[in-house]
Amino acid sequence: MKRVFNFYAGPATLPYEVIEEASKNVLNFMNLGLSILEISHRSKEFDDVIKTAAKDMKELLNLGDDYSVLFLQGGASLQFAMIPMNFLGREETADYVDTGRWSSKAIKEAKLFGNVNVIASSKDKNYNYIPDLNRINFTKDASYVHITSNNTIYGTQFHEFPDTGKTPLIVDMSSDFMCRELDMKKFSLVYAGAQKNVGPAGVTVVIIKKDMLERIKREVPIILKYETHVGKDSLYNTPSVFGVYVIGLVMKWLKNTGGIKEIERINREKAKLLYDAIDEMSDFYVGVVEKNSRSLMNVTFRIRNESLEAKFVEEAKKNDIIGIKGHRSVGGLRASIYNAMPIEGVKTLVDFMKNFAIKNG
Ligand SMILES: *Cc1c(COP(=O)(O)O)cnc(C)c1O
Repeated sequence: MKRVFNFYAGPATLPYEVIEEASKNVLNFMNLGLSILEISHRSKEFDDVIKTAAKDMKELLNLGDDYSVLFLQGGASLQFAMIPMNFLGREETADYVDTGRWSSKAIKEAKLFGNVNVIASSKDKNYNYIPDLNRINFTKDASYVHITSNNTIYGTQFHEFPDTGKTPLIVDMSSDFMCRELDMKKFSLVYAGAQKNVGPAGVTVVIIKKDMLERIKREVPIILKYETHVGKDSLYNTPSVFGVYVIGLVMKWLKNTGGIKEIERINREKAKLLYDAIDEMSDFYVGVVEKNSRSLMNVTFRIRNESLEAKFVEEAKKNDIIGIKGHRSVGGLRASIYNAMPIEGVKTLVDFMKNFAIKNG
């Protein structure tokens, strides 16, 4: 089968080994004579799958027993609501940093439950930079601080996280989860839609520090309580069985690749290839975001002659490069180079960019 290089922002490319292994098990799961699509979530075999996936993820992230790994549904978008529903009292204030559309959506949901203080924003420049949080005053006694670590649409990424002291730091890591080594102890809750960096659509990973369960502010529906899912190890109701299974395979792949340290090295190499190409051909291409805010995962750029962008996307397709068009709200071009994008994919794109610039410059 011919594979194209998939630069879509999400759902996104997965390691081919993972797809191959999953496809075999769609036909016959562990030689049990049934498909992974058919197996009971209460079976011993699936119990093993979900426990191992969580264990491997914890190991890769260096997480201790004071954290739980959950596999939920409803996307990162449900977390936008579930977080304030559980942790923001009516009279309380939560601090949010607004670095783009996803942060804004999270802010909208939080406002339904309590006060929101937008402590920093990059809206003034169409979100093309990460605000400097070293000069920010956090709200005294805030319920939590919420940050979007990587802004998928604009291509910006936090390269350092603030010290919020006793205030819990909550991070939407949907588009850069497990892409680099981080001290996870800084975070009280991390969430990520799996479809960008760790699996297929349909699962949301939530990493929650157990002491957060002492901060619940109101009675909420059982299905929306973190406590429910922590207590039942993500098996309160039927989870996305196939999704969790594939995440497990991706964790194995990450381990075989050399863990987070090695994937970070590769990610930095890929990002450098692409940003260097943009900068070296700066009479033709231009990066969208400020250099010190550039994302390792979503590389956004434009062609100085914007009328050539449609042609770029069209011709890229003929060179097995797909999903390169920018998000409709910012336009231009975007290459999403998540963990599973091989370096050959980035090299193919860079070669194509060079040829395109020569032909159309
Ligand atoms: C994609 C994305 C989301 C939305 O995820 P869903 O799973 O579709 O709800 C939220 N935050 C960020 C940073 C994203 O990239």
